[in-house]
Amino acid sequence: MSLSTAPSAARRAADGTRRRTSASVVLRSVLEHGPVARSTIARLTGLSPASVTDHCAQLGALGLIREAAATRQSKGAGRPHIPVDLDASRFVVGGVHVAVPYTTVALLDLRGRVVAERRLGHGEGTEPGRVLANAADGLGALFAEAGDRTPLSIGVAAGGWVDRDAGIIVEHGLLGWRDVAVREVIGAHTGLPVQVDGHARALVNGEWLFGRARGSRSMLHLFVGNVVDAAFATHDQVHHGPRSQAGAIAHLPLEGGTEPCDCGRTGCLQVELSERTLCRRARERGVIRTANPMHVVRA
Ligand SMILES: [Zn+2]
Repeated sequence: MSLSTAPSAARRAADGTRRRTSASVVLRSVLEHGPVARSTIARLTGLSPASVTDHCAQLGALGLIREAAATRQSKGAGRPHIPVDLDASRFVVGGVHVAVPYTTVALLDLRGRVVAERRLGHGEGTEPGRVLANAADGLGALFAEAGDRTPLSIGVAAGGWVDRDAGIIVEHGLLGWRDVAVREVIGAHTGLPVQVDGHARALVNGEWLFGRARGSRSMLHLFVGNVVDAAFATHDQVHHGPRSQAGAIAHLPLEGGTEPCDCGRTGCLQVELSERTLCRRARERGVIRTANPMHVVRA
């Protein structure tokens, strides 16, 4: 790259990022408020009406949004007020959640509604190549059942340490995984773009877009299951930290803890609070007779 082209290339990249960002702001506004008038989107997002019209035309051409039924103007002639809304009928997104006992694969529409879902037990073990190939096959079967809906992309979530930018599960002790190139493997199996993230951060994003956290700008999410981790967002930003290590709380020491941890220490948060420990203690005290955490909840 010559010095003279560097600034314009950088500017073009910045413009591209800005355009994508404002397109996603428009799309998110339609998701939250649709059916919604373009003028309302402009007011809500602070973008110019011309820019909103432009984005809506492009999102419409892509089939992501469509014009909803016109609302009747209260008085007079003039152009009818035609709001836009998400078009949830044309696309599906694949979701994969790799949990300790099983993998869940699902298809979701653009409103985040589950269209189809299947649970795949790990059966013969958690060798990463096999688990991911099973997940890709399971998704492939769901895509085939989705009829004319076009698959857009795939999101993969798992506990443990997940490096979003690299698309890698760096470490998941309970699965026995280390440096598993999830994005590459699932991408090669399916031919679709793949996003990989830690399940706590993925849940924060899900709650934000589709759940009860809609509209809130900051959020703290604590997950306690077989793994224990956290995710947090401030000012509309989910924090990842260097190599996506933000929210790694599994090995924080819990005062008075007695459980030995895989890391060699005693009393780490994850091993003290995990479902396995909870079930074992409940069994020891005669609360339940099985290893099923739901039986603890019922008891
Ligand atoms: Zn530990």
